[in-house]
Amino acid sequence: MVALDGPSGTGKTTVARRLAQRLGAGYLDTGAMYRAVTVAALRSGADLSDGEALATVAAKADVVVGTDPCSPSVKLGEEDVSAEIRGEQVTASVSAVAAVPAVRERLVTLQRELIAAGLESAGGMVVEGRDIGAVVVPDAGLKVFLTADPDVRAARRAAQDSAAGRPAEQASVRAAVDRRDRLDSTRAVNPMRPAEDAVHLDTSELDIEQVVTALLELLSQRDLLDTTGAPQ
Ligand code: C5P
Repeated sequence: MVALDGPSGTGKTTVARRLAQRLGAGYLDTGAMYRAVTVAALRSGADLSDGEALATVAAKADVVVGTDPCSPSVKLGEEDVSAEIRGEQVTASVSAVAAVPAVRERLVTLQRELIAAGLESAGGMVVEGRDIGAVVVPDAGLKVFLTADPDVRAARRAAQDSAAGRPAEQASVRAAVDRRDRLDSTRAVNPMRPAEDAVHLDTSELDIEQVVTALLELLSQRDLLDTTGAPQ
């Protein structure tokens, strides 16, 4: 089980998916789950500063996540919201939703269930988020906290947005990235933070394949590559 934490723009998602594919493991994008609850909250018209209202939305939301790294999916009930969760309004609102303790409690429970099911069916899991190593799976075999220079992160995010057809200007992307980091790392409950025993990896100068190679090396050093290649 690999816990991959860190802020946006560090390459976390692409690295986690590629690593899971390489290992034949399952993949869980926990950020997508907070985003899906945010879609439900925005649709319901809930006040984003009302923790109780957000807790009610989270309790009712049927967040269904696929853990195949080749085609990850996130649904609300039957409806695929994979594209909608990447929208600008969701990105601007998700930190407020993720700061509500009852929302976190519900999603952490769901995450642990999905991880247990994935370990059972695929033999290993690569899980990405902000608090995976510190809170969700503190006994993960490998915990890595990815970092990168803020300008590099903003440039990567802007490139991703443009590629997905969302207009992106680097200065405003940098401001949005900074704001989300600040909110995520200063919230009272489970703020974004590395586990004490996490390996810190700065990806500023590395491409995706170099990061994947570094992670495979760490798994190998810890003897976590079993015969089927999946991390335990
Ligand atoms: O990873 P991504 O950018 O999609 O995450 C969206 C948001 O979800 C983060 O900014 C953070 O507020 C929240 N999140 C979280 N804990 C996680 C994963 C994501 O609070 N484990």
